[in-house]
Amino acid sequence: MGKQEQQQILKILEETYRGSETALKFGSLFQLLVAVMLSAQTNDNQVNAITGQLFARYATAADFASLTPAELEPLISSCGLYKNKAKNIIAAARMICEKYGGEVPADKEALVKLPGVGGKTANVILSVGFGIPALAVDTHVFRVANRLGLAAAKTPEQTETQLCALIPKQQWGDAHHWLIWHGRKVCKAQHPQCNQCPLENLCPSNQGQSN
Ligand code: SF4
Repeated sequence: MGKQEQQQILKILEETYRGSETALKFGSLFQLLVAVMLSAQTNDNQVNAITGQLFARYATAADFASLTPAELEPLISSCGLYKNKAKNIIAAARMICEKYGGEVPADKEALVKLPGVGGKTANVILSVGFGIPALAVDTHVFRVANRLGLAAAKTPEQTETQLCALIPKQQWGDAHHWLIWHGRKVCKAQHPQCNQCPLENLCPSNQGQSN
């Protein structure tokens, strides 16, 4: 696919999903971190259902640092991998309190050293939380970018590198949301709705049928 087609695709994505943002609800950077950690293999609505009550009881890094896994697990047990998530959230909260005075660090190197925080989560925190350009590649971004020919990559890391080379830095955060929302609403994993897709005439993966 040529650069011109790629730019056309990005323009249509921008026009279609302009202003879209994360569906996760949070009241602070630390709460954003917890919400993103909970969102692995769990959809955002499920996360919001959990955090609505959770953050009413425990709001800060210090609050979470004082919990034990046995106390936190029942409060998040409706999301996948909850035992591991409870352990990591508490350990991350303790590290944030001990090393960063209870504030989430605005630095990728520091973020990825927090227990349970990988490159994707760090990029979401930087971009959504701090407004620092970063392009987080989750399962939707990976699938949609590669189907559309915006990337030709085998891993999320390669996809991130290729998208960052293609998209102007100031649009990295927005492009993350365009691709996520397109993946959720139209270009679904199992049944992409190509006949209803605004990109059907440009997409090399158009299946030519709606499901
Ligand atoms: S045409 Fe189909 S495969 Fe391509 S982006 Fe649209 S929904 Fe996805």
